[in-house]
Parts: sequence; structure tokens; C-alpha cells
Amino acid sequence: MAGNWKMHKTPAETIAFFQKFRLLVENSGHCEIVVCPSFLSLAAAVEAAKGSAIRVGAQNVAWAKEGAFTGEVSGPMIRAAGATHVIVGHSERRQYFGETDETVLKRTRAALESGLSPIVCVGERLEDREKRRTETVLETQFQHGIAGLSGDEFAGIAIAYEPVWAIGTGKTATPEIAAYAHRAIRAQAAAKYGKTAGNSLRILYGGSVKPDNVTSLMAQPEIDGVLVGGASLDPVGFASIVNF
Ligand code: PEP
Repeated sequence: MAGNWKMHKTPAETIAFFQKFRLLVENSGHCEIVVCPSFLSLAAAVEAAKGSAIRVGAQNVAWAKEGAFTGEVSGPMIRAAGATHVIVGHSERRQYFGETDETVLKRTRAALESGLSPIVCVGERLEDREKRRTETVLETQFQHGIAGLSGDEFAGIAIAYEPVWAIGTGKTATPEIAAYAHRAIRAQAAAKYGKTAGNSLRILYGGSVKPDNVTSLMAQPEIDGVLVGGASLDPVGFASIVNF
């Protein structure tokens, strides 16, 4: 169960969140919990989560370890801050910051080389869905991006299916729509990396997940977890999603 805070919460606000949140999830051994604050709040989150099972992730990672890449933050820097995970290829990065399937692949590989666990995002836009192109888009994103990983590298990632039309819009994919897309992604994974790898792949659903819809989504065997944006900002709300 992963939370993407996007561009929210200062270090002080991060500490306040964890003071409440960690108590509410201290018995949540049924799942892994990852909170992804902004780069600037990573260290505060790691410190505030110390001694709990909560892991901390970044929201992006540079494809290089260091160098002339103004504004970027590298895998070794994220690791040094104590984070263990990173979101790669979020649709907001694809939409506003020129992220492509090729850069998603480079960033994913860099994350793995630094010892981070990437959560790689894929998903179709509303116009793709309306033109019945969901599967084609997912296949393109997979083939042009993720499929460049070796089998060993692939074993280290999770994929988040995040239909763009459901992110931050309040429009959640129905559990059936999400499960259908997850099956398509798993089939691509199995075709490329083999059945065992396909079965072992963890696929999270993301897009307006809330305390009142998480149970029906998680009831789908195809949905292994959720990536939560807006609803992860509130410690009580995110804890009730974790403890669905
Ligand atoms: C996200 O940012 O990954 C996300 C799914 O956002 P929201 O839950 O707000 O739709």
C-alpha cells in the first residue's frame, strides 16, 4: 500500500503525519506500507518512520548517478537519505515534464542499480480509453519501457496501473476495469519474462483510491495493492486504506 504525496507537505508536516500514522498502522503486518514524500521531506520521513515497518520512497530518480543534471536527484542520494522505494514514470511526470517510456526505462534501471525498489507507473488517458486503445497503450508502454529490463531487473520492480482519467479526478476505475487492465499487464509480463515472473509481479492500482472504495478494489485477486495520491495525505484516511 503506497502513498504518493505529490508536491505536498514540508518536513514539519511530514513529522506531524507520521506521529499519527505510525500508531494507526502498527499492527498492519498484512502488507508493505510505503510513503513517498517530496525529496525535501525524505530524510524527515525516514527519521519519523524509524522503528516502524513503514518504508519511504521518492517520487522520481535521475538516470545518472551524478553529473550535470540540474534539478535531478540520483539513486545514491535517495538511498543516502534512507529511502528504499521510488515511483517512476508517474503520469504527471509523463504529462507535464516530458517523461517518456525510454526515460522511464533509464530511471528504473538507475533505481535498481542504486538498490531502490521501483514502482513503475503505466496507464491510458481518457481519449485512449474512449477510442478503445487501453490495451494498445499499455502494451506500448510496456514494450518501449519496462521490456528493456533484464529478467533479473524485472523481478525487482512493481508496476502501478494508473489510468490517467482516474488520477485526482474522483473517478475510480471500477474493480472490473482495473482487474482487466491488470490481467493485460500480467499477460505482457508473462509473454516477455515467463509465466513465473508474470505471476510473481506485483501490480498496484492507482486512481482516486479512497477508504470507501479500497475494499472492493482489493477484493479483485488481480489487484495486489494500491498507489494512493490525495487520500494518502491524511493519516487517518490513509491508515484506513491500509487497514481496509
Ligand atoms: C497518484 O498520484 O498516483 C494517484 C493515484 O492520485 P489520486 O489517488 O489522488 O488519484
